[in-house]
Parts: sequence; C-alpha cells; structure tokens
Amino acid sequence: MSDLATDWEVIVIGGGPAGATVARYVAEGGRKVLVIDGRDPIGSPLQCGELVPSNDEMRRLCPDVPEIDDLLQTPDGAISKRTSEMHIVPPSGRPLRYPFEGIMLNRVAHDEWLVELASSKGAQFLTNSHVESVSGESVILRDGRQFTARVIVGAAGHNDPIRRDHWDESGLKIPIKFVLMDGDFGEAVELHFGSMAPGGYAWVFPKGRGANIGVGIQKKFSNGKSLNVFTEEFLTGYDGEITFRGAGSLPMSGTIDCFVKGNHLLVGDSAGMVLPSNGAGITIAMIGGRIAGQTIVSHLENGTSLHEYEVEWNRQMGPVMRNSKISFRVGSWIMRLPDWILNMAFNPVTKPFVWRFVTCRKPFFIF
Ligand SMILES: Cc1cc2nc3c(=O)[nH]c(=O)nc-3n(C[C@H](O)[C@H](O)[C@H](O)COP(=O)(O)OP(=O)(O)OC[C@H]3O[C@@H](n4cnc5c(N)ncnc54)[C@H](O)[C@@H]3O)c2cc1C
Repeated sequence: MSDLATDWEVIVIGGGPAGATVARYVAEGGRKVLVIDGRDPIGSPLQCGELVPSNDEMRRLCPDVPEIDDLLQTPDGAISKRTSEMHIVPPSGRPLRYPFEGIMLNRVAHDEWLVELASSKGAQFLTNSHVESVSGESVILRDGRQFTARVIVGAAGHNDPIRRDHWDESGLKIPIKFVLMDGDFGEAVELHFGSMAPGGYAWVFPKGRGANIGVGIQKKFSNGKSLNVFTEEFLTGYDGEITFRGAGSLPMSGTIDCFVKGNHLLVGDSAGMVLPSNGAGITIAMIGGRIAGQTIVSHLENGTSLHEYEVEWNRQMGPVMRNSKISFRVGSWIMRLPDWILNMAFNPVTKPFVWRFVTCRKPFFIF
C-alpha cells in the first residue's frame, strides 16, 4: 500500500454496508474512490443479529426504492437460512405469527462480498487504518498519514469521526449484547417485547446451524439493571452451547436532519439510517449508500448539488422513516406497561396494528 495515491476524488471512511455501497456506485460512475477502514478484514468481528428482509419483502417495506435487485445482490455464500415467518412474542410467550420472508445472513461473508463487489468496480480499499479526524479536504489517520479528496463520506457507523466533530445532533443509541448458540431453534424469526428488554427488544433468529440471540435495552427504562443481566436472564430460556459472544450499539432515533455539510456527507448508521421500529440497518444503509454514491458522481460530473442526496433520500425513504420513528416513539411508551397488560394487548384484534408498527406503515391506517 506504500504506493497508494494520497489525492482522491472521493474518500469514504468505513467500508461496512453503507461505505462499500457508496464506493461501488462512485466507482461504477468511473470516479476515483478510496475506502479507509480501521478493521482488517472489513466485517470482522461479527456485530449483528444478521436478519435482513428478502428483496420482495424490501419492495413491500420500501415501495419507493427502485431497482432493489440491483442494489441487494446477496450471494448464496452469504446466506445462512431463508425464513418465512416472524413471531412477535409478548412476555406470555404466546406469539402473534406473521408471514415474513427473511434472509439470515452470514454477516461476515456478506460484508466481505460488498467489499469485493466495490473492488471489482474499481474502488480501492485501505484497511487496518483508523481515521482520527477530517478537516476540509484532508483525512488524517491515527498513524499520521494524510489523504485528500474533493468529497469525503462519513460511513464509519455510530462513532463516525465526521459526525462526531462536525455535527452536533445527538441521538439515542441502544446497547446490544448477542450470542451465537448451537441447537435447533425452529423456522421462525422471533422478536420478544416486554420487561425482558425494557425500551428495546430481544431476538431469536434461527440460522442454518444454531441461532443468533440478542437483547437491546434503553438504559433509562432499566431501573439500574445492567444489559449483561438482562441478556443472561433471557439466555436462560435456551440451553445450547454458546459459540460466540458479541456486543454493539444501534442508533435508534432515525435519520438526523441533514446529511450534507460542504463537501462532507454522512451515510448509514452515522446518519441514523436504521428503522427504529424494527432495527433494520443493513439494507437501509445500502439504500442510502447508493443514493449518496450516485449523487457524488453527478456532482463531480456536472456540478449537481450534494444536497440532492437528501432530496432523493426523502423521496425514496422519507415516509417509511417517518412512520418508523412514530411507531418507535409510541412503541417505547407501550412497551413500558406491565407485562400483564402487554400480554392482553398482543391479541388477535391488535395483531394487524402491531404488524403495521413493525413494518413502518402508518400505525392507524389514516395517520
Ligand atoms: C448487535 C447489533 C445487531 C444488529 N442486528 C441487525 C440485524 O439483524 N439486521 C439489520 O439490518 N441490522 C442490524 N444491525 C444494524 C446494522 O449492523 C447497521 O445498521 C449497519 O451495519 C450499518 O452499516 P454502516 O456501514 O453504516 O456501519 P458499520 O457496519 O458499523 O460499518 C462501519 C465501518 O466503519 C469502520 N470504522 C469505524 N470507525 C472508523 C474510523 N475512525 N476509521 C476507519 N474506519 C472506521 C468500521 O471498522 C466498520 O467497518 C445490528 C447492529 C448491532 C450493533
């Protein structure tokens, strides 16, 4: 890497789903793009529940997003299992069952594939290189190296250095712990709500082998009890061997107000592109990544304003994100009710409303 150029048209900080997708579309547009990531390889270690909706489900969830099949090309090697049912499980353990086409990923393989895809279009990657700060057209690494670019994209997740230093909007982050566990966990993906995960939820997502099981909470609702304790309590319900333990943090306030300042753009988790009502972030980051990448190409080619990225995001994802934010706010309030009320509230009459909340539709059909 010693002969790597220092001056680029575009630098992307972070090569996760958001950054790799920006790079793919910038490179596809024939522009010089460098992705800098602190990890090596990108995608490891695992920090994910690994569930994404199928492409058909994505078309239903995000009807204004075009060409889903071009954007979301998940290779067989990155798929652990396909599922066709989702259970929403109240504290009683008696689930509401919904048809839902999901893909359980091998997330590590998935993120490696996105890097390969972007590389195959001509994007360059510099790994094992932590970005310390960004100023104007300069990107400064922790080891002192400096790179420059006309456009710099912050795609480094919830601790992105551009978001940290140049944006002052704060947001809710939900701490999460999860495990991979061996055993037989059936066919349905499960989301559990109630006092086992105050202000958040727990999940059990069956994989080809074993399951990914996790818990996320809002600390302000946990009465001083730690996430560790909630996680261990939830795991007592399952008795397979734990083969991996992981943790992370999920932005749950929805998108921030502006994604662009001067020649700096934010995308993915750094811009809050997670649907708070269901925690979906991978595919949403890729939707944002494609719009950002295509806008940057137009900007470099004919001077299109980078703010077109925000306009196009709002056209494709505005209503879905708005509904998801409302659902999360209402849901956070409802989920604080005592378990016995939740058990009554999750019933055949409320079943369609619960599904509208989870899938980011207007909760009450009219507003
Ligand atoms: C525990 C957990 C479970 C989740 N489960 C799901 C799920 O089941 N389904 C789903 O859709 N979403 C899930 N999410 C959310 C999803 O993982 C994120 O929304 C998604 O990864 C966002 O992609 P991104 O590219 O914006 O950020 P990331 O995937 O976080 O990628 C950021 C990249 O930036 C790099 N980076 C960070 N800081 C620097 C720096 N200073 N310098 C250089 N590089 C840097 C990192 O190494 C990383 O490669 C989960 C999140 C967590 C934490």
